Amino acid sequence: SRLYHKPARSSTFKKLGKDDVRHFERILPAETILATPAVGGSADPIELEGFNADWLNKYRGSSQLVLRPKTTKEVSDILKYCNDQGIAVVPQGGNTGLVGGSVPVHDEVVLSLRNMNKIRSYDELSGILVCDAGCVLEELGNYVGERDHIMPLDLGAKGSCHIGGNVATNAGGIRFLRYGTLHGSVLGLEVVLPDGTILDNMSTLRKDNTGYDLKQLFIGSEGSLGVITGVSIATPRKPSSVNVAVLGVPSYENVQQAFKLARRRCGEILSAYEFWDANCMGAVLKHQELKNPLSSDYPFYVLIETSGSNKDHDDEKMGALLEELMEQGIVEDGALAQDDSQISRMWAMREGIPESLGKTGPTYKYDVSIPIPVLYDIVGDIAGRLETAKLYTPGEPGNPVRLVCGYGHIGDGNLHLNVVAEKFEDRITNIFEPYVYEWVSSHRGSISAEHGVGLMKRDYLGYSKSPEMISYMKRIKDLFDPKGILNPYKVV
Ligand code: FAD
Repeated sequence: SRLYHKPARSSTFKKLGKDDVRHFERILPAETILATPAVGGSADPIELEGFNADWLNKYRGSSQLVLRPKTTKEVSDILKYCNDQGIAVVPQGGNTGLVGGSVPVHDEVVLSLRNMNKIRSYDELSGILVCDAGCVLEELGNYVGERDHIMPLDLGAKGSCHIGGNVATNAGGIRFLRYGTLHGSVLGLEVVLPDGTILDNMSTLRKDNTGYDLKQLFIGSEGSLGVITGVSIATPRKPSSVNVAVLGVPSYENVQQAFKLARRRCGEILSAYEFWDANCMGAVLKHQELKNPLSSDYPFYVLIETSGSNKDHDDEKMGALLEELMEQGIVEDGALAQDDSQISRMWAMREGIPESLGKTGPTYKYDVSIPIPVLYDIVGDIAGRLETAKLYTPGEPGNPVRLVCGYGHIGDGNLHLNVVAEKFEDRITNIFEPYVYEWVSSHRGSISAEHGVGLMKRDYLGYSKSPEMISYMKRIKDLFDPKGILNPYKVV
């Protein structure tokens, strides 16, 4: 099936036996092990479903064993044994990844970090947080929020995703425009290598130029080089004044013009510039308990956020920007949030898009970086191809494809192209793959802006990386994981 290419199981990996499970029972507390009767345990295979299937319900493995260690030492003992025995392992955080990276392809052991969820230290002066990798992003946000700080990243999956998973995928999200990449805000990592070696690089220093910065290799490595067990991260001060507005925009050209003006007028306080199209809005209004804050429908919507420290100054700037946008006819309508609950409802609208699309039907997701001027062209192009192939008629029910839509982080040049179908099937997949990757590559974009490579894009890496780069990536993988036990079949 072209739904996704499932590579054959590698015969170099040992098939898990009862003796292996006995060994894990000796090194881990009983309540941290989930083993099915097939490998000598007593867990109902249904209990392992949530670890074997991904968030999209697209990728599915058949692991018989889930280990949920509580300490770094336990992670090290597990990996050392698996490496010695040639047992393949998939590290798993909150399992919200969207590229098939977090679930086993075949029978790999699932190493879940969810029991490693303690805050190790927090320095309120510097804002530096040191914590276990399995801490849930939203819980960390609440913790630092009570201390007048925020996490430097935020995303729709915050209620489930782990900080370790965020680091492993180098997650972007809605604060990227302001606070930048995790390559900048992560100050240190504790990583267990496949042979059990603990690399303690838990620095809390902002500056440290003592040779190669090894931690950077693990940021975005998607569980292919080591298991992240601890994270040290710089958290910014909570802004004391936040403004959010949703705008109704007549064309994509105007979405860009509004971005230009927003940067010119509010540059130093602009903290987010997100957009979505009418089809995304339709799905959100149908599936979330939210109302359109604008009085009518528009082809495009923009969410602008400013964050600063002087309310009068920020209000004045945002007010002037909105006035100018309306006067020049760049936007046709706008609503400025009047209080915190309106702010959260506006954000819920943007953040509710993935879930609303999921409720509309099985969703194909392409997460690409494309130069902003042509960013939205691919949505119309794909819709056209589907129409030609008689798989889609916009607005008409009963077709194999229900919806083609686009949304994303315009400020970062990152589009989420989504196609909602009746079901995942080859004749639909064939329309996008490799077409989308060729399209992106011809504009020198990236086939993965933020979701990663995982299993989904492994065979397409060449559209974004040269043969020389891929060859060095493979050499790095071999250096850290010579037996290839860690997250096999993925990334490179
Ligand atoms: P998982 O899904 O469990 O794992 C992801 C990958 O990381 C896998 O390859 C896994 O092996 C590896 N991994 C996990 N934990 C570790 C660890 N401790 N050590 C080593 N490897 C590990 N992403 C964005 O970038 N921006 C967004 O705006 C965004 N929005 C999203 C919205 C929704 C509703 C959803 C469902 C997903 C979204 N994502 C987004 C996808 C994003 O990649 C994940 O949500 C998140 O970063 C993954 O964290 P996780 O803990 O769920 O990791």
